[in-house]
Amino acid sequence: MKFNCLPPSIVFQEVPNEISLCFSVSGCKVACTGCHSTELWNADYGSHLSNKSFINWLTKYQNLISCVIFFGGEWQAKALIEKLLIARNLGLKTCLYSGQKHIDISISEHLNFLKTGPWQSALGGLESITSNQVFRDIKTGEKLNHLFIKNHHSNLLKGVNNVAA
Ligand code: SF4
Repeated sequence: MKFNCLPPSIVFQEVPNEISLCFSVSGCKVACTGCHSTELWNADYGSHLSNKSFINWLTKYQNLISCVIFFGGEWQAKALIEKLLIARNLGLKTCLYSGQKHIDISISEHLNFLKTGPWQSALGGLESITSNQVFRDIKTGEKLNHLFIKNHHSNLLKGVNNVAA
């Protein structure tokens, strides 16, 4: 079965204090109103990420990154779990960004971080204090949304300082 993804990119803010290689997986069925990535609803979008090509990507970036993020993919649990295990075996942390409220423990037991909850524009994303979405450290169970809000505030302050300077 295909596990189609876009080419990965390195991201800095999706997991606080980690440099992550991020894979967006096609075939999302959550269908959030206002989704910014509706192209990902099509399971044929992007190209198949085999375990071999996943290992190649991780090997290429292993010295630069500390974490691997999947945007979606929980709808193909077996393929996703295989990749989480590969990442862990290479010494990398793992994170899943899901639009669902709950993720099966067979997946979450292989995660360090998990973001849950659909996009609701009226409530905002993780940087919003009213957000329905939750970002959690799976090992400690701690909710880490405050780290996103703090970043947002310090970025705002930086912006203010830049304007003032
Ligand atoms: S979970 Fe993400 S990709 Fe899926 S519909 Fe919602 S915003 Fe779009």
